[in-house]
Amino acid sequence: MADFDLFVIGAGSGGVRAARVAAAYGARVGIAEEYKVGGTCVIRGCVPKKLLVYGAHFAEDLDDAAMFGWDIPQKRFDWAVLRDNVLAEVGRIEGAYTETLTSHDVTIFHERAVLTGPNSLNLAGGREVSADKILIATGARPQMPQIEGIEHAISSNEVFHLEELPKRIVIVGGGYIACEFAGIFQEFGSQVVLVNRTDVILRQYDQQLVDRLVQISLRKGIDFKFNATLDRIERRDDGRLHVAMTGCDDIEADAVLFATGRRPNIEDLGLEAAGVELGETCQIKVDADNRSSASSIFAVGDVTDRIQLTPVAIREGQAFADTFFGNKPWQVDYQCVPSAVFSHPPLASVGLTEGEARNRLGSVKVYTSDFRAMKNVLAGRNERSLYKLVVDGATEEIVGLHMIGPDAPEILQAAAIAVKAKLKKADFDATVALHPTMAEELVLMR
Ligand code: NDP
Repeated sequence: MADFDLFVIGAGSGGVRAARVAAAYGARVGIAEEYKVGGTCVIRGCVPKKLLVYGAHFAEDLDDAAMFGWDIPQKRFDWAVLRDNVLAEVGRIEGAYTETLTSHDVTIFHERAVLTGPNSLNLAGGREVSADKILIATGARPQMPQIEGIEHAISSNEVFHLEELPKRIVIVGGGYIACEFAGIFQEFGSQVVLVNRTDVILRQYDQQLVDRLVQISLRKGIDFKFNATLDRIERRDDGRLHVAMTGCDDIEADAVLFATGRRPNIEDLGLEAAGVELGETCQIKVDADNRSSASSIFAVGDVTDRIQLTPVAIREGQAFADTFFGNKPWQVDYQCVPSAVFSHPPLASVGLTEGEARNRLGSVKVYTSDFRAMKNVLAGRNERSLYKLVVDGATEEIVGLHMIGPDAPEILQAAAIAVKAKLKKADFDATVALHPTMAEELVLMR
């Protein structure tokens, strides 16, 4: 008999969910984690990022407070206080994740595990273990280009640990991480330069909303360098960084953050020995049941590069455990997955963009609401929100919903249920507005 029914490599969102649920079904489960329990989301992703977003937003709230009658004599931001509080909270959640595993009798190995065959692994401490099924949930890591001086740059792994707040920061990329950290640092008072290789950012989002984000960000003072690339980073004697550029003038900065995508963690895992095939982006290829080309080896989460989002990894882990250990087979549905960019202001989206809908459907109707939130009006903050409904002209079903504005992700999560349920524009119209809210715009578009 094998040592374990299931052995999981990687204790991030997907791995922890699969391990805990399989154990609750009665499986004997082991899990190996070489760094910290919690993975990218908890340790160096969603959780600490969102806390920084909250911290950053105080800059606007404190500015706006005066028009609401509050006299705030002095506004001063202390990066070290926020950083240390965030890291302490991350430590608390890491403890809660570990507790979840141990309370379900999952055996945790705080070391690296490497496959030695389709049912066997070698732990860094020297122990050999065998398992009926192995789940690879090793996630992904930031992709750093091989340019001269790259050792002076940081990725989203290091950004949470900065000694000091950079006075001037160059952020490379135009995706989620770049846009979120551009907003965070700008609100903290850093001078932000966002460098992107093309003139398109947030490529998968509705470009009308993205344009709105760029417009607002420019007004706040973020400097965009489009169609520009970094050639070289040099550290000056005074510690500052000189960034040699193509496509724009060279830049002097205190920090350079690369946010140019994430690549699956597949190196030195013994995948070849176990017969696990990789795809074009070096992801582990899996079928709809998360099974790799080796029948006893499965993979979930970012290492499979399907949709790199925490809730998707969690679902994949749950589906895997239910299917193979709970006798309740099901597969993850990748349609209509809501997503958000926690920029300032945030952007949230579900379903097809207007462009995608026009390409895929015969006729498309688009409804928009372009408005200034009541709170922004009184505060004198010249920042307009934009909501957009994309409707299939033939069926009247809502096929896409896109929002930029305060609390857009909080509002969109509820509305995404309606889009997923294929409700029609008439269903939104038949719902009485909840006044006064921003969300009421969703049922008032004519
Ligand atoms: P993204 O995939 O979102 O964006 C990558 C950006 O980098 C794009 O603008 C891309 O440009 C650019 N890029 C890619 N390769 C290069 C290169 N060699 N040189 C210059 N630019 C390049 O990646 P992120 O790193 O921002 O985030 C990684 C993943 O993490 C996301 O895909 C997302 O799934 C997840 N994430 C989710 C968050 C959320 O849900 N709020 C927050 C943070 C991360 P181009 O468009 O031209 O390819």
